[in-house]
Amino acid sequence: MEHLKVSTAQRIVLESVTRLGSENITLERSLGRVLSENIHACRDLPPYDVSAMDGFAVRSSDLASSPVTLSIIEDIRAGDMPKQTVLPGQCSRIMTGAPVPAGADAVVPVEETQAVSTGTLSPNSLPRTGERDEVSLSESMFDAVQINHTVQSGNHVRPRGENMKLGELVLSSGTEITPGVIGVLATTKKSEMQVYRRPSVAILSTGDELEAMNAPVDPNKIPESNAYALMAQVQMLGIEPVLLGIARDDPVELEQYLLRGLDYDVLLVSGGTSVGVHDYVRPTIEKLNVTMKFWRVAMKPGHPLAFGVLKRSAQDALPPLLNPDETTSHLTKPSQNDSKVAGYLPLAGEGANDSLRELHVNAGTASDAFVFGLPGNPVSSMVCFEEFVAPALRAMMGHARLFRRTVTARLAHPVKIRPGRTEFIRVQLTQDETGYLASSTGTQSSGVLLLMARADGLLVMPAEGPALAAGEQVTVQLLDGMVFQDSAGFKE
Ligand code: AMP
Ligand code: MG
Repeated sequence: MEHLKVSTAQRIVLESVTRLGSENITLERSLGRVLSENIHACRDLPPYDVSAMDGFAVRSSDLASSPVTLSIIEDIRAGDMPKQTVLPGQCSRIMTGAPVPAGADAVVPVEETQAVSTGTLSPNSLPRTGERDEVSLSESMFDAVQINHTVQSGNHVRPRGENMKLGELVLSSGTEITPGVIGVLATTKKSEMQVYRRPSVAILSTGDELEAMNAPVDPNKIPESNAYALMAQVQMLGIEPVLLGIARDDPVELEQYLLRGLDYDVLLVSGGTSVGVHDYVRPTIEKLNVTMKFWRVAMKPGHPLAFGVLKRSAQDALPPLLNPDETTSHLTKPSQNDSKVAGYLPLAGEGANDSLRELHVNAGTASDAFVFGLPGNPVSSMVCFEEFVAPALRAMMGHARLFRRTVTARLAHPVKIRPGRTEFIRVQLTQDETGYLASSTGTQSSGVLLLMARADGLLVMPAEGPALAAGEQVTVQLLDGMVFQDSAGFKE
């Protein structure tokens, strides 16, 4: 099989995955999810014309020739309903959010008025009401107000239904639930709503050389880190993954782990996907009826990367066992006395079936399972997650924006390329008045995880070059934050 371009491989992944079904969720737990129902307004908001300012509700026609002195007939606070109609020559003192009384069609802010008493106090000796505090204002010590300018009808009035009108479509299915959207949902009295389900994700590491977190330090082994970095990448998307442990480079053991992993919507396997004699992942996955869509992508870091689909029928679905929102963490604890398998979940037949079924939070649907065979090199595995897995998981959750946000930056130093592969260079970004400046975090070896850890973004170098000089413009995918965009945003 030829090496696919990154964009071609991304397209194959996104054409294969489908949005998952819906579930009900409470408003308090809905942040970051995607609505799978339309939300309509259940009332007009505001329910009547309200004042946008503390001031005086007036008839704008009264102010046609200013200055004018209007007598104050009523105090209206937010939550009050006006009792009196404002007649010519009159006004009502009104607070922000209070209903505009009948007869009035505009509000003059208190700062633009002068308090007047028609009693013994002379108007000129009175302070501007705007300079007085609200307490004295509401004490109604003045029974009239002088206004020196004209106002338009509707001045500082929020008309009924300005926010939303009864029955209006306010949020459509597919909307991502942000804090602002949560506010709108609360306004529409939606304490629960339908959202797209999150995929269940399992993570499996492979390799005889790997040392589990709970194993004693062995100088001849490599500490297992991919599962944890991948776990965090999955968590950043709002999904709590399950760590299946470490499978040795043994086809029989690997098959058992893979079988278990295929119960999830998405299985991430790191290591063992190459063509070495001990790289059993691809043949074993294929033996389990997973159709491999590709296993070679022309990218650096990243090679080799495999992607496969397991078609599932409704009969294969397990009944749902847990509501994911009631589960705080699905991460399994390292098993204490498991020296044979350096994983965290004992294998089937070792008393683990129940815990496995409990962990299987999203079973019960017949959606297909997707397997990503990620490279074992820690940086490559993370970069492949960003380019392929993250967009797939977001698509399954119903998001429209699947890709990390890109920014344009200037290169701090020249960059060579090796033609034929799209290169993702780990960079730090600084900002000055002319924009972002991108500088490499150091060696671009795909084994040096620390330099990935220090990166703000991935500078995307098109496969066919040319090499770039310092100061040239480049595209950088941002690695932090939760802002995503419609398209990949880089040229290959
Ligand atoms: P592989 O793709 O299995 O040939 O692995 C490539 C490199 O990545 C080897 O040096 C492995 O030791 C390393 N590696 C594989 N899996 C992991 C892992 N889970 N954590 C840390 N390093 C790993
Ligand atoms: Mg390996």
